[in-house]
Amino acid sequence: KTCVVLFTRDLRVHDNPAFASSVGAFDVVLPLFVHDPALPAGDNRRAFLRGALDDLRSSLRARGGDLAELHGDPVTEAIRAAKTVGASAIAMAADVSAYARSRETRLAAACESERLAFKTFPGVTVVPPSAVRPGGGGSHYKVFTPYYRSWEAFKFRDVVGAPKKVSLPAGAPKSWFSTAIGDAGETAARKRLSSWLADIAAYGDIHDDLAADRTSRLSPYLHFGCLSPREVVDRAQGHEGAEPFIRQLCWRDFYHQVLAAFPALKSKPYRANAEDDWRDEKDALQAWQEGHTGMPIVDAGMRQLRAEGWMHNRARLITASYLTKHLYVDWRAGGDHFFDLLLDGDVANNYGNWQWVAGTGNDTKPYRRFSPLRQAERFDPTGEYVRRYVPELAHIPGKAIHQPWELPAAQRRGYPSPIK
Ligand code: FAD
Repeated sequence: KTCVVLFTRDLRVHDNPAFASSVGAFDVVLPLFVHDPALPAGDNRRAFLRGALDDLRSSLRARGGDLAELHGDPVTEAIRAAKTVGASAIAMAADVSAYARSRETRLAAACESERLAFKTFPGVTVVPPSAVRPGGGGSHYKVFTPYYRSWEAFKFRDVVGAPKKVSLPAGAPKSWFSTAIGDAGETAARKRLSSWLADIAAYGDIHDDLAADRTSRLSPYLHFGCLSPREVVDRAQGHEGAEPFIRQLCWRDFYHQVLAAFPALKSKPYRANAEDDWRDEKDALQAWQEGHTGMPIVDAGMRQLRAEGWMHNRARLITASYLTKHLYVDWRAGGDHFFDLLLDGDVANNYGNWQWVAGTGNDTKPYRRFSPLRQAERFDPTGEYVRRYVPELAHIPGKAIHQPWELPAAQRRGYPSPIK
């Protein structure tokens, strides 16, 4: 008996329920990835994907298998592959975006008409969307804190093939490397996770410190499924101080269940009565995108995004708030720019967070507005983060770097005055 395993956003061999179940139940398994021209991905994510697929292929080869790569519509290609190898079934991980769900429905229908078995598995989130629901019959949780309580209680229940207890590496190196594109794939992801766990205790205190750059940087790996989110939580939870980190992974699941219930998250305000009226400020949008707003903390974040395909979470909050609540530019324009450049860009987390910041989404305080200067002084008190990404201001000592408009023009070295 032969089965095709269609890999999508689960590019790993460890704790991959679709892959593990198929290997257990069939004599022959064909691992398949289909490059889908209908799925938008910027150059950064495309390059990361390439690295992740090469790594997956090596892992499969090391286990005596291989990875087939095809181009086109994943439904057509998966069926074609199944017929070519005489498979009787197709398996894949279930996903939540509107596109992923329609792909799944089309594939289920095509399998039925070709008399192939079709099965989906969990694996993209820790808790599958809709596995926990609020009391009173709601389709999903709208507010994070009650979701977190239910998620904590549910976490490892009822999910296929609970992860084996993994022994924790003792004394793993405390290296800090960026998730540069060269580090893509499951092998690098697992190394990163091990070194991260050795240093997780400080996370609660330091994760908002922009210059320290001490968050896990696991997000691109989680986006492409190079790591199982469930395994990450499982391995983290034995460590002192892991709770605030695990809470962030719960935010990821939270937005996935929001997207599952509200497929238009990237284009329509989530809150029905939200104000969604924005200025058409093309020049301001462009200055923001290019990191030339004249507000150093904002420009540092936007330049980090451009240089690394990644931005610190605190900087994402500051830059997104500045675009929507100072420049009054549409959150969709900001979200699309992030989505284009981010290595971890995904529909649930990106647009869910953008709507939270813009006040159209899940924030219980939709009118909150971050002052960029106060945020800069609090989360980059020495100005080191700005100095790293805005070199024309690097000569300005201490926190004076956050207000270059207070200095004589000669000391600003061509850096613009604030556009707002
Ligand atoms: P850590 O702090 O180490 O957190 C661990 C993991 O938890 C992350 O890898 C991520 O998977 C998850 N996580 C952390 N914070 C959040 C959050 N606020 N919402 C959802 N999940 C979270 N995250 C993405 O993965 N993709 C996106 O496209 C994305 N767009 C964002 C846009 C805006 C405007 C904002 C404010 C946040 C966005 N985030 C996004 C969330 C967050 O900024 C990143 O997940 C985080 O910075 C990734 O770095 P890390 O892996 O070091 O995070």
